[in-house]
Amino acid sequence: MILSKISQKNSKKEQKKKLKADPLGGLPLEDTMYYFGRESRRNLEGVHPELVIVAEAAIKRIDFKVIEGIRHIDRQRELVKEGKSWTMDSMHLVQPHDGYAHAIDFIPHPFKGWEDILSFAHVIMVFGEEAARLGVRLEFGGNWSKKDYPHIQLSR
Ligand SMILES: [Zn+2]
Repeated sequence: MILSKISQKNSKKEQKKKLKADPLGGLPLEDTMYYFGRESRRNLEGVHPELVIVAEAAIKRIDFKVIEGIRHIDRQRELVKEGKSWTMDSMHLVQPHDGYAHAIDFIPHPFKGWEDILSFAHVIMVFGEEAARLGVRLEFGGNWSKKDYPHIQLSR
């Protein structure tokens, strides 16, 4: 009884040590693991599993919200009409060859505004590292000439 308690305690300590030893690529070391809220989880439904896996790895290291995943064609038409999107070839739309959306939009959490590029960049950096580690090729709207910082998609 006592022995099992002690070994439990030790394994918890070891887990903590492992977290601390994990290099976070210049970000402050955190013991905290973040996790997706209901809204983010819902917005990941219908998104390609490879992108979801990277997002799940990223959320353990940095807090953000998935504000959109799959987008229906009517909404995309509206967005283009309103000038908020410039293409009907959006990766948010269900891709006919596999039935998944290949893009998500995120905001950093806490959200300090759209002009807080640094917070977007931190999340993008973590996504980039986790994608490389997992062998998933991503494209970031933040790298486009027409900047779309919240946007992350699987490479075409
Ligand atoms: Zn997007």
